[in-house]
Amino acid sequence: MNNNDYREVIDEDEKKETPAETEDSARGAQQDKDNAAKPPEQEYEDACYICRRPEHIAGKMIKIPNNICICQACMQRTFDSMNGNGFSMDDIMNMGMGRIPNISMINLSDLQGGMPNRQKLKRKKTQEDAKPAIDIKKIPAPHKIKASLDEYVVGQEQAKKVMSVAVYNHYKRIAQEQQGDVEIEKSNMLMIGPTGCGKTYLVKTLAKLLDVPLAITDATSLTEAGYIGDDIESVVSKLLAAADNDVERAEHGIIFIDEIDKIAKKRNTNQRDVSGESVQQGMLKLLEGAEVEVPVGASSKNAMVPMTMVNTRDILFICGGAFPDLEDIIRERLNQEASIGFRAKLRDENDADENILSKVTVEDVRKFGMIPEFLGRLPIMFTLDALTEDTLVRILREPKNAILKQYEKLLEMDEVKLAFNEDALYAIAKAAKEKKVGARALRAVIEEFMLDIMYEIPKDDNIGMVTITKEYVEKTGGPIITMRGCVGIEEKGVMPQIAAGV
Ligand code: ADP
Repeated sequence: MNNNDYREVIDEDEKKETPAETEDSARGAQQDKDNAAKPPEQEYEDACYICRRPEHIAGKMIKIPNNICICQACMQRTFDSMNGNGFSMDDIMNMGMGRIPNISMINLSDLQGGMPNRQKLKRKKTQEDAKPAIDIKKIPAPHKIKASLDEYVVGQEQAKKVMSVAVYNHYKRIAQEQQGDVEIEKSNMLMIGPTGCGKTYLVKTLAKLLDVPLAITDATSLTEAGYIGDDIESVVSKLLAAADNDVERAEHGIIFIDEIDKIAKKRNTNQRDVSGESVQQGMLKLLEGAEVEVPVGASSKNAMVPMTMVNTRDILFICGGAFPDLEDIIRERLNQEASIGFRAKLRDENDADENILSKVTVEDVRKFGMIPEFLGRLPIMFTLDALTEDTLVRILREPKNAILKQYEKLLEMDEVKLAFNEDALYAIAKAAKEKKVGARALRAVIEEFMLDIMYEIPKDDNIGMVTITKEYVEKTGGPIITMRGCVGIEEKGVMPQIAAGV
């Protein structure tokens, strides 16, 4: 199911609504249109040029030329500090800006163009505008979420299933909160899987399907506040930027923290662990839900950046990591269990088991160096499988934007058909697997041999088809080139093999 189909499902649901609801949604649509029609400067709140506080905190702004706004408190302070004294805020308001003596002290041309939109907050919706942020009827059911994920992500069936249910429950929880009643616990997730197996890709696809803002950060850059590196709260600031500075939208978004294993407790260290355990400690309140003050339009707090409050209670946190050496910890535990009793033969089985990661328990991850409080706030833990050659071949051709489809399209523009022999695909998968960076290596492998093809083919207008062979991928032979006019014959199995090597 693609995005459009998903929309269609929603549309069908909407058609079944009662007339009153239909009216509501019609009004909503009209409001959306009105919002869309608003000029961008009305969409964003004004913020004081001096203290950087937005309008909803600092109050009404005084506008001066060059799109500059100053709050009344700062304006008052400015005049207090001027020599003449005797001016009150009321005087200024009454007099109008044009007639204030000494105003020429401020050279307006020095202030260039006011504050950029990226540092301004989106205006809060008025009471009438405000629709419930999440409409329970519009959350697609888990099987629909999974079906949409299937279109892009190959394999990883269990992970897709767990994620679909967790996301569904997360948004149900938000909808439920709006009605009060029983409080449902948050479904933050911890994904464990080798590099390049699709962790980031899954989260990205999910956010796109649900149309919620997504921020992706790397845990490696995070340090305890005050040390060199990013503050933990900078992840929320990124999400706010992804939500176009709309606080309400950001509060229902997804934050993906990659490389979470890099903030494991450092073993054998006497120094303060500012990028390990302390970061885990610092993240506790974020994961659970807290009001945090974040800079708008920047990743670090400083005097020149406006700040705002964001509540993380409804933000879905997904942490992912490769957790190298975790397999050894699991194996050790399993072997210990096996040595108790008469199951000694299991030892060899454990050693040979390729998918041992799927047997992970919270205790294993704790042993790896994650603190129990942290793990307690990521109740949904699941693993992703390492990609096999078969899966890599499927990744090459099945997803909607599969790499092979992309190259076929490129050559199609030159009116040349591109085909791959089955064993060529396995040769590509094999070469990619050897690089040990998962599906990420596929493009690099293909790019290597496609370069010559894409360079040489447009030279000769007579070429109608190129077939990539296993030998060509392994650099022991060439591709099969079919001249125009022979393409039809080739389908009958009498294709002339014109050249080995382009
Ligand atoms: P990581 O697990 O290290 O976060 P990524 O999600 O960034 O890996 O994967 C890298 C790329 O490999 C993705 O952009 C995607 O194109 C491709 N890929 C990885 N796994 C899959 C998969 N299961 N199905 C389809 N494409 C995949």
